[in-house]
Amino acid sequence: MTWTREDAEKTYHVKKWSDGFFDINEEGNLVIHTNNGKKDVPLINIIDEIRSMNINMPCVIRFHDILRSKVKILNRTFRSVIDEAEYEGRFFGVYPIKVNQMREVVEEVIDAGSKYDYGLEAGSKPELLAVLAYNKNPNSLTILNGYKDSEYLKLAMIGTQLGKKIVIVLEKFSEVAKVIELAKEMNVKPMLGIRSKMSIEGIGRWAHSSGEKAKFGLTIPEILNAVELLEEADMKDCLKLFHFHIGSQISDIKTIKDAINEGGRMYAKLVNIGCKLEYFDAGGGLAIDYDGSRSAGDSSMNYSLEEYVEDIVYGLKQICNLEGVPHPNIVTESGRAITAHHSCVITNVVGTIDSTKAYYPTKKTTGEHILVSNMRALTDEAITLDNYQVAFNEADQLKEDSLNAFRLGILGLDEKAKIETLYWQIMNKIKVILSDVEDIPEDLKVLQEKMAPQYLCNFSVFQSAADLWAIDQILPVVPLTRLNEKPQNLGTIVDITCDSDGKIDQFINADGIGSLVPLHELRDNEDYLIGLFLTGAYQDVMGDMHNLFGRLNEIHVFCDPEDPSGFYIEEVIRGSSCSHVLSTMQYNPEYMDLKIKRMINQRVAHGKIAPRDGFKYSNFYDDCLSNYTYLANENHKPQKEQDIYQNLQ
Ligand SMILES: *Cc1c(COP(=O)(O)O)cnc(C)c1O
Repeated sequence: MTWTREDAEKTYHVKKWSDGFFDINEEGNLVIHTNNGKKDVPLINIIDEIRSMNINMPCVIRFHDILRSKVKILNRTFRSVIDEAEYEGRFFGVYPIKVNQMREVVEEVIDAGSKYDYGLEAGSKPELLAVLAYNKNPNSLTILNGYKDSEYLKLAMIGTQLGKKIVIVLEKFSEVAKVIELAKEMNVKPMLGIRSKMSIEGIGRWAHSSGEKAKFGLTIPEILNAVELLEEADMKDCLKLFHFHIGSQISDIKTIKDAINEGGRMYAKLVNIGCKLEYFDAGGGLAIDYDGSRSAGDSSMNYSLEEYVEDIVYGLKQICNLEGVPHPNIVTESGRAITAHHSCVITNVVGTIDSTKAYYPTKKTTGEHILVSNMRALTDEAITLDNYQVAFNEADQLKEDSLNAFRLGILGLDEKAKIETLYWQIMNKIKVILSDVEDIPEDLKVLQEKMAPQYLCNFSVFQSAADLWAIDQILPVVPLTRLNEKPQNLGTIVDITCDSDGKIDQFINADGIGSLVPLHELRDNEDYLIGLFLTGAYQDVMGDMHNLFGRLNEIHVFCDPEDPSGFYIEEVIRGSSCSHVLSTMQYNPEYMDLKIKRMINQRVAHGKIAPRDGFKYSNFYDDCLSNYTYLANENHKPQKEQDIYQNLQ
């Protein structure tokens, strides 16, 4: 049976999680597909080009076209639903920069959103400093969330004086008095928002962002007191925006409908007691279908963007009409939904770890232990669909017996090595049989997992996919090439950190989520590249430097129909060097270099190292300091341990 791209699609579900931005072409390559008349570009072509520039794996590829599309689609969808619903307010979305604060990302979002007056949101002082400088559109909003000290508030009011539409969202009751005092002192009339603590709880991992025990927001009594304080200070008219945020990755549309109903009523009642609110801010939470299952599961969503927008617009319209209040402008703070798709991490496989393939000579020797002979007799038998279970049970029993014998000192190392080698030879035969078995017995499923080769990939989960480690986030994993070829192995992925947690063992597969991913057998002199997708939201910027693996080389790509290759690289940002990551931990690389030179000179003086070598060694140390923190690419040759065994034979 030949393996087609349809089989690859069923295996990796690219169409389902990629929102149409990625696809598999006839040649079996993963391509970016921008849907606007531009050519599909195989990711491997981009990698070939950056390699010709001497830029190594692993790297992040940022697709600016995807980022721009996402901004455009969100704004256009709101505009068209608002028109169709004859809703009387406008849409003023903002991008919360905490989701990905990279300057290039923020600039691209602002540029793509300028004709829609799309704004920015900040949640801390450094983010506020950034949005003040980068949001130059006087018509778009700058929304300020997070806990605020007087320095934060003062910066915000300076922003107001610069003519920007800054909304200070009160997150905590004590902020009300601070704002009033500072506004008087600086003689500024700020635009204020109020974040409501909603009774509805989000679902999934961020459920605690909302509900009575939430960290942020004012309760109804606090809101009413805040309104009174503002009224006393003659600042009630400053209150312009009603805000809630019930959490990120809201996978069930029901939660969104409930939030709009609760928030809509709150907005309307506040207007009815004389608050001249102009904006209704429904926060973030628009989800991403990471696993492509279109369900209410944690890594998915059971609704479309259209449905989300319609629920907000029509829901709010109905409540406002019933309550007899004007339709407010609508604000949302989608971050994940804007950025997740635009970047991916590409890593090269540096080898596989598969101890079941270990080779040791097993020739019969005179006087060998009966356990060895028995295991050898088993390997000589043909294993078929009819007897594989029996063979498995017998081999397993012999293995256990031999372990006991070894513990009692009856078996030597040589005999134990023979038994293990023979045992795995039998198991490998059974594994081949299993690929034709539909209903695999439980015991043997465990065997399959135990025998799954680990693909050692040149990256760090902690740096490049923090949520995968921290909260079991599912991220799509797909080889960039050979998708027209049946993957021979079911494997897992491990990273190069010295931490057994540095691995990926949850994958999207043909039946949902599983612990193994189909991957190809490595080939000599050919790199095997794997992409980790949907890393543009949070993952890009949250990574840590476990083992001092630093930031990745970053490639900014634009698709371009005029260009013969269909794309061009706009910018390359080199990843961290070893000396950079060391300096963040208070080391002084120059001093280290000097120390090593001194040590070498001393050994040279004592005649222990030749002067010529001493010079080379110190240069080498120096070079390593300025190099990339990840594994260097040794002639693109992944190391297959089997090949080494082959040479042994
Ligand atoms: C984190 C956050 C967002 C972004 O949420 P997404 O789920 O990424 O869209 C929006 N608003 C506030 C207040 C946040 O804290």
